[in-house]
Amino acid sequence: MSTAAANWCYATVVAPRARSSTIVASLGTPAPSNSSSFRPKLIRNTPVQAAPVAPALMDAAVERLKTGFEKFKTEVYDKKPDFFEPLKAGQAPKYMVFACADSRVCPSVTLGLEPGEAFTIRNIANMVPSYCKNKYAGVGSAIEYAVCALKVEVIVVIGHSRCGGIKALLSLKDGADDSFHFVEDWVRIGFPAKKKVQTECASMPFDDQCTVLEKEAVNVSLQNLLTYPFVKEGVSNGTLKLVGGHYDFVSGKFETWEQ
Ligand SMILES: [Zn+2]
Repeated sequence: MSTAAANWCYATVVAPRARSSTIVASLGTPAPSNSSSFRPKLIRNTPVQAAPVAPALMDAAVERLKTGFEKFKTEVYDKKPDFFEPLKAGQAPKYMVFACADSRVCPSVTLGLEPGEAFTIRNIANMVPSYCKNKYAGVGSAIEYAVCALKVEVIVVIGHSRCGGIKALLSLKDGADDSFHFVEDWVRIGFPAKKKVQTECASMPFDDQCTVLEKEAVNVSLQNLLTYPFVKEGVSNGTLKLVGGHYDFVSGKFETWEQ
C-alpha cells in the first residue's frame, strides 16, 4: 500500500476541484458522443444537478429495468423452477469473484455464471485492499462471509482491457491533489503494481503499460487477499485457491493464472 493511501483519513481529503476535461479523459472511458445527452459512462465527473435528465428519459430508464426483469421472469425464472427453487433456501457458491464495476465486464455474462454460483464484489479496477477493519470493512466482511460462512473454494480476481481505473492509477502524479473524494485513493491500492510496471516497462507506450498494469494489479490484489487470516489459512490447508484472471474485450480473450 502506498504511503498516501496508508495516511488516508477524512481530514486529509481535498475537496473536489472544478472538473476539467483532463480528468474526464484520464478516468472515463466514454462511449462515442452521438447525442446531446451524452455523459461519461464509467465515472460521471460532473454533479448530477449540472446536467439534469429529462423526466421522460428518466422514466424510460426505469421502465427499461422493469421490462428487463419481465423478460428474465418469463424466459428464465418461470421456466426453470427446479433450478431456482433450491436457491430460495440458501446459497452455496463455489466462487468468490472480484470484478471491475465497468459496465462492459459483468462476470455473470462473460463467464456464464448462474445465480448461486458466484459471490461477487465489483468495484473500480477490481481491487482487493489489504486487511483493514477501519477502512475496508465492506470488502473485508464480504471476503470473511464468503470464506468462513459460504466456504467458497475459489477466489478469482478479474482484471480487464481498457480499464479506466487502471488508467487513472497509472496517470496519477506523485503529490498531486486528488480530484475525487474516493477514486484516486481507492485505485492507489494498486500502487505497488504501478511502481513495478513503471520500472520494468518504462520503454513501453502508455497504453501498453496499462495492459501490463491491468494484470499486475490483479497480482497485488491476490497478495492482499493473503493478509486476511481466514484466506491465508484456507490457502494453507488447501480448501481455498486464489486465481488471477484477465478479460480482454477488445480481442475477445480470457486468461487465468495462479500465483
Ligand atoms: Zn475497470
